[in-house]
Amino acid sequence: MVRVDLHTHSTFSDGSLSPEELVMRAVRQQVQILALTDHDSVDGIAPALNVAAHQAIFLVAGVELSVLWEGKVIHVIALNFPHEAPQLTKLLRQQHELRAERGRAIAQALAVLGFQDTYEDAIKLACGPEHVGRLHFAQVLVHRAVVNDVQQAFDRYLRDGRKAAISANWVNLQSAVEVMKGIGATTVLAHPLRYTLSATQKRKLFCAFKDAGGDAVEMASLQESAGPSGWLSDTIRKMGFRASQGSDFHGSSTPWLELGRCRPVPDDLEAVWHAWPQWQEWCLKHGSVFLHSSG
Ligand code: AMP
Ligand code: MN
Ligand code: MN
Ligand code: MN
Repeated sequence: MVRVDLHTHSTFSDGSLSPEELVMRAVRQQVQILALTDHDSVDGIAPALNVAAHQAIFLVAGVELSVLWEGKVIHVIALNFPHEAPQLTKLLRQQHELRAERGRAIAQALAVLGFQDTYEDAIKLACGPEHVGRLHFAQVLVHRAVVNDVQQAFDRYLRDGRKAAISANWVNLQSAVEVMKGIGATTVLAHPLRYTLSATQKRKLFCAFKDAGGDAVEMASLQESAGPSGWLSDTIRKMGFRASQGSDFHGSSTPWLELGRCRPVPDDLEAVWHAWPQWQEWCLKHGSVFLHSSG
């Protein structure tokens, strides 16, 4: 069976490996299809493609967009698109500005809580203000021994509802899907069980994503239960979505995750990569056996 990981992070968002290191680690883990999906950034795609070109791995351009739906932050993954498309560059420039602005607001909130000057430290970890995220601030608090680990930093200060969990005016769900569909991307609702939503709200979110033109839904992570009696798979099938799979690998901050280790798309759902001609071409070019035996 083909080993696929379509949700990973590098140093161009809150991952700890460079795009090059990430690709080489995926090769060692025998991953055949890898998507780099940094938060609101495609800056790692070109370096990742350069390395992947010399390896037996199909590298897919990806991005994990922070979007707003009914006032809540939802993550939409876009896959397999031309990463230099001008519409995308424009959207990401706006997201980068919001990220930098929100970074300063998080630092201000942390200063009020007694932790001064976290912005500069977080920026250094993030390779620039446009890539800074809550995980970088969590790491700063760990380095300063304010908390024992990243999880504690989120629980006390950074997770939704806490004092330093500043929200931003991210692009809305519909516009994000429209832009990504406009450049030919496959759009995926990321980690659908991780949002704090009631069952009714969750169904509403799935419908809104479908109405917006969304293509697929990500399988639950290995750590999450897929819901009572396969609720997630049933819903994906009934609503006519495709399915995607990914580890959400971040490197050293989540040492229990590994590239390529994720809940696989079940046989009775259509996997997103089956619809990609580039994958089929890659298989033919590399004489791969996966084309006809892939799960
Ligand atoms: P941001 O896009 O900057 O708001 O950060 C979102 C990222 O923070 C996620 O992708 C995770 O890497 C991390 N994160 C969010 N919530 C938690 C949590 N409760 N515990 C640990 N990490 C978290
Ligand atoms: Mn993250
Ligand atoms: Mn996410
Ligand atoms: Mn992610």
